[in-house]
Amino acid sequence: MTSRVTPGTPVRFLKGIGPARSECLERLNVRTVRDALTLLPRRYEDRRALLPIGRLRLGEFQTVAGIVKAAGLGRTRRGIPYCEVMLEDGTGTLLARWYRQTYLARVFRRGQRIILAGRVNPYPPREMTNPEHEIEDAGDPASAGYHTGRIVPIYPLTAGLHQRFLRRWLADLARTYAPQLADPLPVSLRERQRLLPLSEAVERLHFPNEIGDATRGRYRLAFDEFFLFSLTILRQRADHANRPGIAFRVPNALEEKARAILPFRLTPAQERVLAAIDKDMAQPKPMHRLLQGDVGSGKTIVAFLAALTAIGSGYQAAIMAPTEILAAQHAERARTLFEPLHVPVVHLAASTPSSLRRQALDQLGSLSPSLAIGTHALLQPDVEFGRLGFVVVDEQHRFGVLQRASLQQKAVYPDVLVMTATPIPRSLALVLYGDLDLSVIDELPPGRQPITTRWVDERERSQIQEELRARLARGERAYVVCPMVEESTAELKAAVQTAEMYRRGPLGGFGVGLAHGRLPSAEKAATIAAFRQGTIRLLVATTVVEVGVDVPEATAMVIEHADRLGLAQLHQLRGRVGRADRPAVCFVVADREEIGEEARARLEAFTCQHDGFALAEADLKLRGPGEFFGTRQSGMDGFHLGDLTADLSLLEAARTEAMAVLAEAPMLDGPWASVRSAMEERWAGRLGLARVG
Ligand code: ADP
Ligand code: MG
Repeated sequence: MTSRVTPGTPVRFLKGIGPARSECLERLNVRTVRDALTLLPRRYEDRRALLPIGRLRLGEFQTVAGIVKAAGLGRTRRGIPYCEVMLEDGTGTLLARWYRQTYLARVFRRGQRIILAGRVNPYPPREMTNPEHEIEDAGDPASAGYHTGRIVPIYPLTAGLHQRFLRRWLADLARTYAPQLADPLPVSLRERQRLLPLSEAVERLHFPNEIGDATRGRYRLAFDEFFLFSLTILRQRADHANRPGIAFRVPNALEEKARAILPFRLTPAQERVLAAIDKDMAQPKPMHRLLQGDVGSGKTIVAFLAALTAIGSGYQAAIMAPTEILAAQHAERARTLFEPLHVPVVHLAASTPSSLRRQALDQLGSLSPSLAIGTHALLQPDVEFGRLGFVVVDEQHRFGVLQRASLQQKAVYPDVLVMTATPIPRSLALVLYGDLDLSVIDELPPGRQPITTRWVDERERSQIQEELRARLARGERAYVVCPMVEESTAELKAAVQTAEMYRRGPLGGFGVGLAHGRLPSAEKAATIAAFRQGTIRLLVATTVVEVGVDVPEATAMVIEHADRLGLAQLHQLRGRVGRADRPAVCFVVADREEIGEEARARLEAFTCQHDGFALAEADLKLRGPGEFFGTRQSGMDGFHLGDLTADLSLLEAARTEAMAVLAEAPMLDGPWASVRSAMEERWAGRLGLARVG
């Protein structure tokens, strides 16, 4: 007796699926019957119309039926074997040939009626090469209608798995089990969103009557995917919000004092974002907010002012930066603002001598308010906070989720502000940061000059030299970035050699510095300081400058081997210049002839587009969503049916529905119990790691 098959049954228990096939299927992410039923065809072919042979059009994809007049084997002049069939239907004859598939000679027999679907060769006589075939078996009508005579799905394949097998297997599976699928969505929701019932959606995916059917089937399944995902992530967010947090004093006298001494006025966007943060901070719940803003939009000052609200309420604040350089820069900037206010700034660096470090740790361990700044060094077990109330994670894409999580355990539910300058398309932001509230700084401080971006080939280098010379002579600064290659030693070598070349060259007199990840951090800090002061005007660096370095006098950026970098990284680098009111230039160096097509498209987008969000959209189209997920956690790019580039409005609709459901039934009980179990089955395991700061 066989046990009952349910959607959760592993496919390897099904008839006809041995260990080898189940392994192949696993590579297509098909483990269970449900996975199989929702395996998305890559495309469809319309093989409904059976044309008489005499009416076949040359060069077109068509389906035809006829009687086998002759079948046999042959060999090309180069020795490639083939099977050949002569087909006839009273209006003409058609020759079909299958290369290398000699077993077919045993499949076709004279007098059989067969159906072929394929492209007719573009030149006479009428011939098809490697068409799909189906043998009409009068004794078994059910055997027909898999590969021809209908709109036929074309599935993704993997080595060892054949289209014909997969198509037939899935057709049978869908016929048998789709009607048994229980629909977790209530009718009211389905009607509101105009979604097909689940079983119908699955059937249409594999058996569309019209191409539009398949689209609607996929749409329903994609909705489920987005809906269950949104529920999971929104519940996670609700969990955060239900914890006890700190109600900070808002408005805050200390923050007001700081505003009064700022050398500039906040932009309206900065004000708006700060108001949202203040509102969160006033609540006795932990804040979990993501602050997005293009490079140079002024996120740091927003973070400082928010930190001052916490400090002015008697708590400690911590800012974590992804690199030592950036932490040092934050510390330096923070001091100019915080010291006049008598707020201690504690900078913990790898290079901090142990006596100073001990002193710093004592300070943080006490209950007295202060600002701590560091890299992930702030996460070491010996760093204890006495009264941590507010945490900023800057440029979070450099931080692992676990690192962020461990900072949080330093205190009981502090408010958390995650800042990122990596522009993310809205669809992805909903997915990656759907558990955080989102604020966006969508304007730059006034007076910024546009940056000219110029793509130069190797032999046009002299342009760069001239441009740099003019700028350095005026006291401006320039970066030359040698980006990473696979082995980090090679990266280093390239940077060292480039620095050497500039030192010896005509620009050497302006002071050439070198910064890379392997330098002792004190040395690196000294170099950056000299660059800031202008005793070094040209800084050769690996991508360590990518994140956050702020030297307003820098007006030129040269990116070597620009083809090696992604759009987000390029944009970050370009954001290092054009930070003040002087026009800036960015050179990307890459040989048009030598780089691949994708790299060329990327650099073209980069040279003509300067808005970070537009670039992010372009990147998403060029490289797909995978790139954006890598840093947050793997296993979350798990959308098989939903398409993050095309289905944004569907994602938003699903999210809105999910919010409504959670407002009505936060525990997902009653009529939502089936949704809840579908959700847990689908996402809970994967999101285990995704609990974020
Ligand atoms: P990012 O958002 O890339 O972290 P920063 O916080 O480093 O940007 O700010 C970039 C530069 O703009 C800094 O030099 C900062 O002092 C300056 N800045 C920030 N806000 C304003 C403003 N409202 N008006 C003028 N300059 C500002
Ligand atoms: Mg920054």
